Amino acid sequence: MKRLVVKFGGSSVGTIEKIKKVANIIKRLSESNEIIVVVSAMSGVTNELKAKSDLISKNFDNKELDVLLSSGEQVSCSLLSGALIDLGIKARSWLGWQIPIITNDNYTSSQIMKIKTDEILNFISKKGVAVIAGFQGISQESRITTLGRGGSDLSAVAVAKFFQTDSCEIYTDVDGVLTTDPSINEKAKKIDKISYEEMLEMASLGAKVMQPNAVQTSMIDNIPLHVRSAFSEKSGTQIIPESEVDYKKVVTGIAYSKGNAKVSIVGVVDKPGVAADIFEPIGKNNINIDMVIQNTSLDGKKANITFTIKREDLKKTLSLIEKNKQKLNYNKITQDDKLAKISIIGAGMQANAGVTHKMFRSLADEKINILAISTSEIKISVLIRENLTQKAVKALHKTFGLN
Ligand code: ASP
Ligand code: MG
Repeated sequence: MKRLVVKFGGSSVGTIEKIKKVANIIKRLSESNEIIVVVSAMSGVTNELKAKSDLISKNFDNKELDVLLSSGEQVSCSLLSGALIDLGIKARSWLGWQIPIITNDNYTSSQIMKIKTDEILNFISKKGVAVIAGFQGISQESRITTLGRGGSDLSAVAVAKFFQTDSCEIYTDVDGVLTTDPSINEKAKKIDKISYEEMLEMASLGAKVMQPNAVQTSMIDNIPLHVRSAFSEKSGTQIIPESEVDYKKVVTGIAYSKGNAKVSIVGVVDKPGVAADIFEPIGKNNINIDMVIQNTSLDGKKANITFTIKREDLKKTLSLIEKNKQKLNYNKITQDDKLAKISIIGAGMQANAGVTHKMFRSLADEKINILAISTSEIKISVLIRENLTQKAVKALHKTFGLN
């Protein structure tokens, strides 16, 4: 008998009808496997709860926010357990603190340290289906924690690790990981196999199927994942070590993120410490810097520094720089907040020259101007105007043979 962890995302338990469907899938799986279910809140619920806290304060207390946000999973895991019991299955729900799933005390984005397994192991060994509320845990000081938005993926990976399951199945409302977002390109295709590294890039760069932290954890602990649809029998996407993927294509997928802003600081003195002086206050305010470009002027005395951040961080960033004007001694700041980042991702590009120019040519043919570029071994990202996102994604999808 195999032991499986099966995770159902918010969209696959979004209605009572869907919860009943999911209960039937679990019933079938439980005939020949030991099953631990991880479930996230019904779709939209966590957002609604968050919106309520925002109405009280934008700085709503973190610990109370975790108590609030974790309640969505309490609803879905009890409904699903109840649906299973109704089908004649022995089932029981567990909230994070009941197991317990011990996390650190980094409220709203905690890390799982340990999961106690004996009670659940005992239950599943007697043909019980354990239904665990995803996204939540308990800190050493006995307070409820959550794992960051999308964190029930991380719960599933951690359960796979601590319960040493044979497989970790992530059920969602799409067929698997797709080459790009089907809502902006109808030519998007399911990817059969993708490496952890590529999936991590895809997830971090805007593909929403899996939480980046969960992918990272599965990579570190070598836990193969299978992302698949809750509503079709089709096999989904295997997320596995790079050595097990046979690369026929240079580019595996195309991701994008909208809502980027660019700041250029024009005419700062070109000497050691200037970049540190610019970025230190920004970093200390928990604002994530993404791309950075510096160009030195011809006389070597003054430089321009350009960087990108999320649009919602623009105001704060500008005020932090302006506060520092005396020290930085720049000429002026320019900004643009309607930008998107488009990325091509593929482990196959490590062994193939010419990917970069092919990408740039493809965008040029569409008359799309590139405003900034960043690269890693397995991805190239460009910054473009946000309203050209769809055009760019479609062009690159075609250029790299993904259509
Ligand atoms: N319900 C949580 C969220 O919406 C966790 C999850 O869905 O994975 O972020
Ligand atoms: Mg999710």
